[in-house]
Amino acid sequence: MPGFFVENFGCRATQADGAALERQFEEQGLVRASAAAQASVVVLNTCTVTASADQDARSAIRRVRRQNPQAKIVVTGCYAQRAAEEIRALPGVDLVIGNSHKHQLAEIVAVANSGVVAHRAGVADAGWPAFIPLASLSASAGSGKAEAGSPIFVSDIFAHTELLAAPVFDASNERTRPNLKVQDGCDNRCSFCVIPYVRGQSRSLGRDRIIREVNTLVAAGYREIVISGINLGRWGRDLAGTPADVGTAALGCPGEQSLPGFALPASRKPRAGSERPRFADLIRALLAETKLEKLRISSVEPMDWSDELISLVASSRRIAKHAHVPMQSGSDAVLRRMHRRYRPWHYREKIEKIAAAMPDAAIGADVMVGFPGETDSEFEATRQLIEDLPFTYLHVFTYSARPGTPAAERKNQVPVQIARERNRMLRDLASEKKLAFMRRFIGKTVEAITLNVTASDAEGEFTETLTDNYLKLRLRGCHEANRWQMVNVENVLNGALVGALDLRQCGL
Ligand code: SF4
Repeated sequence: MPGFFVENFGCRATQADGAALERQFEEQGLVRASAAAQASVVVLNTCTVTASADQDARSAIRRVRRQNPQAKIVVTGCYAQRAAEEIRALPGVDLVIGNSHKHQLAEIVAVANSGVVAHRAGVADAGWPAFIPLASLSASAGSGKAEAGSPIFVSDIFAHTELLAAPVFDASNERTRPNLKVQDGCDNRCSFCVIPYVRGQSRSLGRDRIIREVNTLVAAGYREIVISGINLGRWGRDLAGTPADVGTAALGCPGEQSLPGFALPASRKPRAGSERPRFADLIRALLAETKLEKLRISSVEPMDWSDELISLVASSRRIAKHAHVPMQSGSDAVLRRMHRRYRPWHYREKIEKIAAAMPDAAIGADVMVGFPGETDSEFEATRQLIEDLPFTYLHVFTYSARPGTPAAERKNQVPVQIARERNRMLRDLASEKKLAFMRRFIGKTVEAITLNVTASDAEGEFTETLTDNYLKLRLRGCHEANRWQMVNVENVLNGALVGALDLRQCGL
């Protein structure tokens, strides 16, 4: 029986797509190989968020070809959507399938199988399904000329509304914390970001499907589920209103129609008088209609942290006290050049509200340094805002020009050495803030879920855990995975809390 192997690169959304691809192959009766070297079909599910992500994909193609010359290599994902011709020209690639056709990937591979062999042998590609024209990096493309025999399956991503969804399980933590993607695509046009061009318009997994997926995971024994999306806070804006299910829906967000460059496609505009579900409605439904012990919400854009959402997260013990709020820059001028929808004072206000409602919550942000034209004083505005706000961790990125995006056309790119130094400064600041946050919990009791990893150090065996507020915690002793435990924190060592079970909570 032929085996397949899916190797994922990049973000959680790409991993979720990868899990859905595995489902497609399994439904066709194929078995999952344990490694690319053992598979007859290897799918490389790529990312293109930075130039180095593209490079990683190209290296993987070479590696798989070297390790397993007989395998058919299928390249899919965001890089395939953005630069299909570039990938097609690489030696050893059998098929390029963009995000536009990912929902049919296993089917295309099955139909094309004999054609793949023919193509690589330089023989005519008989047996290929109808060609699907290439889309260029633009919303209006997609009417290219048919080219029989092309191994490329890419079309206008903005014409697609499918959403691949399957829970993702960490390789090292298969028994805990699955991630479920409930939203894909993005209607924003941040000037540095290629994602809308490779993932298309914002679209949501239906509420009932989400409830079913979560209930299936709960029945399988999972106690924490992470919900994620490309622009998660926009969940529901594309769904038809069902007021009985979702309550009163607010349409749009402050400034949504007023900033230049952000016109919503006609099909995406809220209809007058209609009520569309909001993200907070989904959270309430998950609490009401599942027995999930802990829901963790991944990244939500600042303007989508409504008062309602903040109070919902703050008031339920079943929602992890964790807010990830992309910031990108603390400079008003840079945010404008980035075409971000909020100003630094909006951002500050949101974080202060979140911290006031949940003083012990993890609060994290994505920050970008080296955006074109970023001056010393603009960078200082970012550094100062970070210093002022109660962040507990940061993801710091250095700007990487992406072909086809407005920012890549700007002349005043920041020299790489300066960008690297700014990155280092923010990482150092983030480390200090994280350490101070961790120390606050010494002598206190925290709630943590045991992960599937045990190890030992000079003081004996321990089990890795993750606290409700997103801190690594080494729990003394060997404990069963996937259990919420109350833990007394004794110390902070090597970037993690260290603690022992709170025996009072165990009834001992
Ligand atoms: S919100 Fe901006 S950065 Fe995030 S995916 Fe959409 S366009 Fe990209």
